[in-house]
Order: sequence, then C-alpha cells, then structure tokens
Amino acid sequence: MKIVSSLEEIRKVRKAATGSVGFVPTMGALHEGHLALVQEAKKRAERVYCSIFVNPLQFGPSEDLSRYPRPFEEDVQKLRDLGVDVLFAPNVDEMTPAGATVFVDEDPLTKPLCGMFRPGHFRGVATIVTKLFNLIRPDTACFGEKDFQQLRLIEKMSLELNQGVEIIRVPTFREKDGLALSSRNRYLSPEHRALAPFLHQTMVATREKILKDHREGAPFKIALNEGRRAIDGNPAFRLQYFEARDEEKLELADGVSKPARIFVAAYLGQTRLIDNLRI
Ligand code: AMP
Repeated sequence: MKIVSSLEEIRKVRKAATGSVGFVPTMGALHEGHLALVQEAKKRAERVYCSIFVNPLQFGPSEDLSRYPRPFEEDVQKLRDLGVDVLFAPNVDEMTPAGATVFVDEDPLTKPLCGMFRPGHFRGVATIVTKLFNLIRPDTACFGEKDFQQLRLIEKMSLELNQGVEIIRVPTFREKDGLALSSRNRYLSPEHRALAPFLHQTMVATREKILKDHREGAPFKIALNEGRRAIDGNPAFRLQYFEARDEEKLELADGVSKPARIFVAAYLGQTRLIDNLRI
C-alpha cells in the first residue's frame, strides 16, 4: 500500500494509475464500519484509494477536534490487510490553507437534523470531499448510511456539481447489541457503553409502533412522541432530535407513502451519538 501525504504526489500517483478507482474517505480511527466501505469499494473498482483526514472545517469551536482519536499506525495496518492500494493522509496545512475563501454549501438538505445543531459542519464536509474528489478523481466513492444526511448531501453534490463520482450507499454496521459503530464510541465509559444501544432499541420500537399505528389509521407522531419521551426520560441522554424524515429530501415524514427513516442524535455524557433506521 502506497502512503501519500502531499497533494502534488497524490496527483502524480493518480495520473499514473490504470483502471477504475474506488474511493473511501474517512477520518481514521477505523472500525468494521469503515472496513465494510473498503470491501464494497473493492467489489466496484480495480483500485481502492482510502483517505484519512480529520477535517477541521467540519468541527465547531466547542467540538472534539483536538481529542478526536488518531491511531494512525493501527489504521495503516488495517488498510494494508484489506489490500487498499493507496492511502492518502494529507496534512492539515496543505488541505486547509489559511485564507481560503471558496467553500461548497448546500441548502435545504443540510438545514435540519445535524445542520441545526452543528452550524458550518456540512459546509466543511462538502468542501473537503470536493477537494478529495478533485485530487483523486475516483469513479466511485463509498459512504455509510450511518451518516445518512451526509450521504444525501454528497449524492446531491456529485450530481449537481457534475463531479462524475458514482456514490455507493453502504448499510450501517452495528454491534450485536444494535449500537452503530462509530469512532466516537471509544470515548464512552463502560457504563455509557452499556446504555448506548438504547437509541437503536428506541428506534426499532418506534418503527414497530409507527407501522402498527399506520395499519390502524393513527397518525405518525404518536409513536415519535413516545420514542422521544423514552429517551428524554433517561437522564444519561441529552436528546437533540428524534424525527422521521423522507429519504430523498429529508423533509418531515407524516406517512409511509415515501421511503422514510427515523433519525436520532443525543449526547451520552460528552459523546455525541447519531443513528438512523429505515421505517
Ligand atoms: P468517519 O470516519 O466517521 O468520517 O466516517 C467515514 C465513512 O464511514 C463515512 O462514509 C461514514 O458514514 C462511514 N461509517 C461510519 N460508521 C459507519 C458504520 N457503523 N457503518 C457503515 N458506515 C459507517
């Protein structure tokens, strides 16, 4: 596996590459969810490029940028074992030069959900993913459904900006107890780790109730309110949102006529967890 950090070199390496390129952008601290993305990329392309970049543009001033885990050597080993061809791990100064004034922004997909609670987050994501796409020029790129709002943003961005990258959706990889894998799970204390699957359990119960209520002609919001109350009633969690939205436009869903998901974000101690579940 070739490890590249300079922008000039990644352009050279890419120019010399033959065959199709699949790309998996990450912030490192790799877990099996990330590795599932790499496996999917391998099925779709002859070469797989992966990036590790803890993107400062997507963190707010009071967020966890400085303490975000960076186990680089372990990550390198995992990617090597999977047969990744190129790891691009740029440095912050070259990727985000001071004084840059051009950004990629989207509205309305990025207004609700995490957009409400993390101003500037999706602008940071879209800008860096665009730069990575420009440098690597992949044919396909894999993104996880775990971050569904981000996935929809990238799909729309690739389409509307004619970036020409086919975006592949990869289902959320979960622990046996339902907790979605996340690099941030390693912040959780053992007590909080034991509580964390409650979010997934609540979504599953809410989905069951939504479907039952729907069959009986009852409105959507009863089940959602119940789910919200269950999380609010657990003092370990600080709930940010618990909503049902359609998959395409991420508008509030009040029926099952369009594909929709339940979306949740909550703090558990100092750790912000997000998840979603198709209804
Ligand atoms: P991150 O390193 O957290 O920025 O995530 C990099 C990519 O991995 C994104 O496309 C995420 O959606 C995806 N990802 C993170 N966690 C999971 C998971 N549990 N299952 C599937 N994909 C995931």
